[in-house]
Amino acid sequence: MKTVKGYAALEAGGKLEEFEYELGDLAPNQVDVRVDACGICHSDLSMLKNDWEMSQYPLIGGHEITGTVDEVGGAVTHLQKGDKVGVGWNSGACMTCQQCLSGDHNLCSAAEGTIVQRHGGFADLVRAESAFTVKIPEGVDLLKAGPLFCGGITVFNPILQMDVKPTDRVAVVGIGGLGHLALQFLSKWGCEVTAISTSPDKEAETKALGAHHFLNAKDDSALAAAGGAFDFILSTVNVKLDWGSYIKMLRPKGNLHLVGAAPEVSSEVFPLILAQRSISASPVGSPATIATMLDFCARHDIAPHTREFAMAEVNEALEILEKESPAKRLILKN
Ligand code: NAP
Ligand code: ZN
Repeated sequence: MKTVKGYAALEAGGKLEEFEYELGDLAPNQVDVRVDACGICHSDLSMLKNDWEMSQYPLIGGHEITGTVDEVGGAVTHLQKGDKVGVGWNSGACMTCQQCLSGDHNLCSAAEGTIVQRHGGFADLVRAESAFTVKIPEGVDLLKAGPLFCGGITVFNPILQMDVKPTDRVAVVGIGGLGHLALQFLSKWGCEVTAISTSPDKEAETKALGAHHFLNAKDDSALAAAGGAFDFILSTVNVKLDWGSYIKMLRPKGNLHLVGAAPEVSSEVFPLILAQRSISASPVGSPATIATMLDFCARHDIAPHTREFAMAEVNEALEILEKESPAKRLILKN
């Protein structure tokens, strides 16, 4: 029996406290990962507060994990003790449904969430299915890579799914953990990139991340002036926006893609019909797409911008994420 030491909320919205639990026997397809670092995603905040009504307490958050393989189950052949790996939002899936067999494991209706009804990476050890434990290639910094496994893949996957082209003009709405990675991916993809942010003080940072232009989301006249400007708009915000004004910013055949957990999206139909515009959304990405993204990161020198904390400072870091929404990722180190 292994004892895992982590930090758990004991109730919705409670401060995280030191908490231990026992891991049972390792199944043949499972891997134990000794956590080196773990990013803090806004979804951790939402889960710790039970915003989505699927949290179970005690809850150890953390699903942007990088670490070192500690032990592999008897059927695992592609990993061995000592390998440097990451685990993201999904730690398992059924592996036999049509989605899994098609390589869309992130769309499996039985996909396991690393912090849904089980414990995550604000701890010294985490367990995952081996297929969801992805090797970190040369050229990717192990300590900084954690945020790629949720925030990163969530904004990289739509580039492939929605067939974003290097010739496209694109916008990213909300420049936090996800948005700051989306700017890097899309600019390295070749697109002309606009950051749309409620925080004018982030403008210089967005330009350093690859944005060519900056729009103040609170300036209605600036948004109106961008009418018909973008082939693709990626929203990372978790609030309801004036969606109509964002749809008007799309060119004909343009797409508004949501990854931020906004409570709802709505639109009049004619602005969609007349210009063949669309609205879509997606969850994270498959393990294969994660591996593709890591390769792209190594090739283009893309990395999360991070602020680092000790694991024991988890409450302080969660508070900073909630209050300051920085254009970077906060990560916890063991
Ligand atoms: P984050 O670091 O807190 O960033 C969110 C950004 O949204 C903020 O930095 C801010 O950017 C903007 N924002 C915040 N409040 C706003 C408001 N009232 N009006 C307009 N903009 C606002 O969060 P994150 O970790 O990037 O996560 C973003 C969202 O994605 C969360 O809802 C999270 O749960 C979700 N998520 C979804 C998936 C998925 O699979 N689809 C995966 C991971 C996360 P500006 O200061 O630039 O305006
Ligand atoms: Zn996340």
